[in-house]
Amino acid sequence: MAPSIGFIGLGIMGQPMALNLVKAGHPVTVFNRTPAKTETLKSAGAKVAASSAEAAVEADFVISIVSDTAAVEEVILGKGGVLETVRSGAIVIDSSTISPVASRKFACKIAGKGASWLDAPVTGSKHMAEKGELTYMVGGDREAFDRALPVLQVMGKKHIYCGSHGLGLTAKLSQNVIQSTMVEIFCEGFVLAAKAGLKPHILMEVIQGSMARASLTDFKAPFIFKGDFTPYFPLKLMHKDITLALESAYAQNVPMPAAAAVKEVYGAAKAQGKGEQDYAAVVTFLEELAKVQVRE
Ligand code: NAP
Repeated sequence: MAPSIGFIGLGIMGQPMALNLVKAGHPVTVFNRTPAKTETLKSAGAKVAASSAEAAVEADFVISIVSDTAAVEEVILGKGGVLETVRSGAIVIDSSTISPVASRKFACKIAGKGASWLDAPVTGSKHMAEKGELTYMVGGDREAFDRALPVLQVMGKKHIYCGSHGLGLTAKLSQNVIQSTMVEIFCEGFVLAAKAGLKPHILMEVIQGSMARASLTDFKAPFIFKGDFTPYFPLKLMHKDITLALESAYAQNVPMPAAAAVKEVYGAAKAQGKGEQDYAAVVTFLEELAKVQVRE
């Protein structure tokens, strides 16, 4: 029988990830703070729990993917949290992008129950989650990683073991600092071109024929040109990740001048009320300043 899974957090990412586990034949018990979001999983055959503790009580693997550090604190250490019921020998896999320092604290608490903790953030967004093709970067004990791998393979196609607790998250924060800056500077370039009267598709043809081409901006450009900011990765979460990266940089005396500037751009867009949109909506903040639109 396939190992049992307790799955916590059915947001943009959690929904398709949990669904893939059900489809692969795992007994899955889900918990989501807002119960309405459990309907699809229930229809697919998952059990629905009333708390994280209830989702974890019989699970061989507990998987969480919730918004931020405070949310993980709540579902793991809070009242009705995983720590109350997690079984000795179980593995808790947290795929939320959170503070590596806090994640190490959760690892210690879980170890106190005889269970293991992996920080296992992902990259790939909603469309890759749906296809079961996420990339995982994992921190924690190698032995726990090896045991968790068959479960992670249901949701992802690439699994990179990064080293001890917190190093999966370190990889994730470094990656998102690069990604957020790429999209922001891509948008700056297109706003400049639009202001001078150059059509976006012409500049895109130039970019795609140059060394500046990137799969990330190839993917985002059509959405930007249509003004479609349906969230794949909400802007408020990208702002959270750059903030976490800069906190980590501060703690280690690492200067990140470009990231600091880019964080302020995303922060300003968020303050304008764009936080729930995809992070590519950062273009609209730049457009408003320049009084021009990057649209076909
Ligand atoms: P989302 O759609 O906003 O979902 C957030 C989830 O967290 C929801 O299930 C939400 O419950 C839950 N939650 C938030 N605060 C909570 C709390 N205090 N207690 C319990 N549950 C709480 O976010 P997402 O896009 O799925 O992202 C989830 C995590 O994955 C984030 O850390 C994000 O940085 C990371 N991530 C996202 C992507 C992406 O492309 N979307 C890619 C890689 C990594 P409710 O339904 O009740 O609000």
